[in-house]
Amino acid sequence: MGTVIRVKCSDCGLDKTFRVGSGMQFNNLEKVLPLFDKNTAEKITEYLNGNSGCLWYVVNNIGFCPECGQFSVYPVFYSTSREGKDIFLYSDCECGKRPVLLDIETVLDGTKEIPCPKCNNNLIISPEGIWD
Ligand SMILES: [Zn+2]
Ligand SMILES: [Zn+2]
Repeated sequence: MGTVIRVKCSDCGLDKTFRVGSGMQFNNLEKVLPLFDKNTAEKITEYLNGNSGCLWYVVNNIGFCPECGQFSVYPVFYSTSREGKDIFLYSDCECGKRPVLLDIETVLDGTKEIPCPKCNNNLIISPEGIWD
């Protein structure tokens, strides 16, 4: 189950809810692959073909695009390859640039302050419920 969180910034007016964490279907490759853009889905498929049997998981995190200012949810694919390399894959922003992801542990923890990526004021993050 994942957590629904509300992210607010009193300075720039950001006020959005996001589904972070992992859904019940997130261990099913066929269900999670369509959540990624084409390029990233191909990288994941290619990786898994070469590393069959390696454990992997997908977690929704929040990312901010420094280029266009878009704040949205990004599923992140994590694994450790056969060579022991950490794999960390997520999609580009719709504008084609690389979003900067927040620290998911800190987001879920809810007790530490996270600066707003847009205006650097502190974000207020509160849990709103759960999703599956
Ligand atoms: Zn802000
Ligand atoms: Zn963008």
